[in-house]
Amino acid sequence: MNQQPLIECHELQRDYKMGEVTVHALRGLELCVNPGEFITLLGPSGSGKTTTLNLIGGLDKPTGGQVIVQGEDITRYNERQLADYRRRKVGFIFQFFNLIPTLNAAENVEFALRLTQKNGKSLDGRVRDLLRLVGLADRANHFPAELSGGEQQRVAIARALANRPPLLLCDEPTGNLDVETGHQVLQVIRDLNQQEGTTVILVTHNTAIAPMSDRIVRLHDGMVSEDRLNERPLPVMELAW
Ligand code: ADP
Ligand code: MG
Repeated sequence: MNQQPLIECHELQRDYKMGEVTVHALRGLELCVNPGEFITLLGPSGSGKTTTLNLIGGLDKPTGGQVIVQGEDITRYNERQLADYRRRKVGFIFQFFNLIPTLNAAENVEFALRLTQKNGKSLDGRVRDLLRLVGLADRANHFPAELSGGEQQRVAIARALANRPPLLLCDEPTGNLDVETGHQVLQVIRDLNQQEGTTVILVTHNTAIAPMSDRIVRLHDGMVSEDRLNERPLPVMELAW
């Protein structure tokens, strides 16, 4: 099969200058992601996982190397082009949900929709569909402080999906959740991947999560140390953690 990769990272480098010291967070990372894959990026704290995700998501620029998305090198984009890329192509899910505390669940999702939709158009139907998708139709009017951690993360997923991005980037999405709630959140993400074909890159330091994915990529010290297909992904509910 000769399909175009969704993402290609070539010789990706990211240095952080800290006064006199330079931290080499990424040191020539190579990664190729095909459409529809569910990849776990696994590695210990400090191995460069978040840096990699931020570069793929256009939140940061590399010191060297390329990030090619659907054939286009996004490292050459200016700020406006990057913002456009993030809005149209990428959904982000973070460890700490990052919902807007003064907006209720429906308004948090609508806020994301407004970034790409024409003004004035009613988005109520789409907001309701998204909340239903993550099992929160009955929590639309709740503010983040009135929701559990798992519910907040599911609102964050609904928000990330608002513009139907082909790519979902998740940085330790269960890092702040208990096991049962973590399972629910991972199930929602896996369902999206399988039912909608959304490509998922999930970053975690938790080795117990990796067996649910189609592919496991290990990072060590800013480089890929292992990249293997997982022939038999485990159902989320069978993950032991
Ligand atoms: P991970 O997500 O795997 O824990 P990161 O990508 O966050 O790792 O960090 C990789 C390395 O880069 C670490 O040594 C970290 O301390 C360093 N680093 C990350 N972000 C910054 C920053 N903004 N300034 C300086 N150093 C950073
Ligand atoms: Mg990190």
